[in-house]
Amino acid sequence: MFNQISAPLKQSLLPDVRSFAGCLALLLIAIVAPMVQAKGLAPADIERVLGEAHRQFSGVKNGANANYIPALDQVNPELFSISLMTPDGRVYDVGDSNYTFSIQSISKAFIAAQVIETQGKDAMLEQIGVDATGQPFNSIKAIEMIDERSVNPLVNAGAMASVSMLKADSPEAKWAQILGTLEGFAGRKLTVMEDIYASEAASNDRNQAIAKLLEAYGRLYDDVESTVDLYTRQCSVGVTSHDLAVMAGTLAAGGINPVTQKQVVSRENVPEILAIMATAGLYDDSGIWLYNVGLPAKSGVGGGIVAVAPGEYGIAAFSPRLDEAGNSVRAQLAIAYIVEQLGGNIFE
Ligand code: GLN
Repeated sequence: MFNQISAPLKQSLLPDVRSFAGCLALLLIAIVAPMVQAKGLAPADIERVLGEAHRQFSGVKNGANANYIPALDQVNPELFSISLMTPDGRVYDVGDSNYTFSIQSISKAFIAAQVIETQGKDAMLEQIGVDATGQPFNSIKAIEMIDERSVNPLVNAGAMASVSMLKADSPEAKWAQILGTLEGFAGRKLTVMEDIYASEAASNDRNQAIAKLLEAYGRLYDDVESTVDLYTRQCSVGVTSHDLAVMAGTLAAGGINPVTQKQVVSRENVPEILAIMATAGLYDDSGIWLYNVGLPAKSGVGGGIVAVAPGEYGIAAFSPRLDEAGNSVRAQLAIAYIVEQLGGNIFE
């Protein structure tokens, strides 16, 4: 358009156009800059608050390692790390953030994302369900009491139903999908911790019973044996708190991994994933967590917890001692403190 204006006219118009555009730009900067500054977190503040949380809660010794999976009982209970990722791709780490531990149930949120992404929101609602059970994560009573049976993808029943829903020609191909999804969120190659896998595979009778019960109710969509095995492998994938912060940070950034810039899950599916995490991410303590912290989150019996402040940051903390519900004591305290200090509560 502008090029079609004759040269002399262009010249006479230019100063005005420039000064008008210039004024507008200055005005916009004056209005928007303080807003951006108020919302964006200063790196120094993030580092300070993470350090405070680590120092403050290192001395907490309550709880105990998960012992129903023998290998988890062997992990040093003093390990403690916190990592936070902002959508610009920066990751802040404190403590043992290079230590690799098993992802356990945290993986369930990302495989739920894969089910929603590949099969749609209705498939999740109809074939698994999204309500909280109010029961422990490996509850058989919940399956008997609640008509949906698998109930939601963040308890063992629903997580195994999620694995069974993934479509693949062979267990190997399905495993490639599962690992690929976790790697997409983490932004790097991940591997199974074989000692954890072997220990859990040798002691997962209860999960086998759950899968069999789901099959009896017509709520498992592939065979029991391969489903339980793939689920056990999925839980044994090794991650650091740094990885988990990137995984949570990807959800905070609307499904785009800030490290690889790849769209791992569509932006339009993120709210449903976060909703499931908000209602069921910390098992039967999900209500207390949401009341106190106000962020969708997911825990694992390996001692990790991730939480997502949409648009602001993804955070992860790791320490092996768990409370009665199976949630890391120090990780809960650390994330609660950091959210209180940095803001992010979705209800505020
Ligand atoms: N692999 C564990 C199990 O199936 C996961 C449980 C958890 O992290 N809450 O029991």
